[in-house]
Amino acid sequence: MQSWNYDTIVFGAHPDDAEIGAGGMIAQKVRLGRKIMICDLTAGEMSSNGNPLQRREEALASAEVLGVSERLCLGFPDRGLRECEEQISEIVRVIREFRPRVVFTPWHGDDHLDHVQATRLVRAAVLNARLRRYGSRKPWVVERVWEYFVHEMPQNPLLLRLDEEDGVVKQKALRCYVSQFQVGEETMSTRLHGFPQRLEWRDRLAGSQVGAPWAEGFWQAEPLGFHDLWDILD
Ligand SMILES: [Zn+2]
Repeated sequence: MQSWNYDTIVFGAHPDDAEIGAGGMIAQKVRLGRKIMICDLTAGEMSSNGNPLQRREEALASAEVLGVSERLCLGFPDRGLRECEEQISEIVRVIREFRPRVVFTPWHGDDHLDHVQATRLVRAAVLNARLRRYGSRKPWVVERVWEYFVHEMPQNPLLLRLDEEDGVVKQKALRCYVSQFQVGEETMSTRLHGFPQRLEWRDRLAGSQVGAPWAEGFWQAEPLGFHDLWDILD
């Protein structure tokens, strides 16, 4: 039996991915006493707005709002995520060192290639982390990988109900990213204009579908098993 150190590591390609797709989940789990860590694969240096230092400061401010225990940035090149040994082994190192029970990563069908590559890398690392003969550290088995939605959301995702306060904390965390969502609107792509506001609409709409003030969607590749189908009728 493994004893995990972290309940969850939420991986993102860029600082702010974790908040966009799973900020409410993170706020909820921290509120319930879970130990959560965020790991950004890049510093987001290719963004048209802000610079890596500013983005790191924003990411740390947001981490504080969310109450996560740790936030790492692996410093892989932005727009340079590749399924290569160098990057996979670094993520394996993080998984084996921090021993998460569950891992979150962006949805594999997202239209931003960095998000897709991030997912491929994280899944490769989750696989390698469990191999006894891979690397020198003790193997670690992640129990489940969840995918969250940065931009697109497919039909009928699994929806996590969130309390009012969780959505409020997520919005507050998002607004730490001043360089991304609040200044420089003339240079940012139109999809980012008023982005926190549009995310609020998305999360409120998802919540209305499941009888909650807010909800976030997630995707699961592996089968989900239930003892009793009534378990999900809470
Ligand atoms: Zn991103």
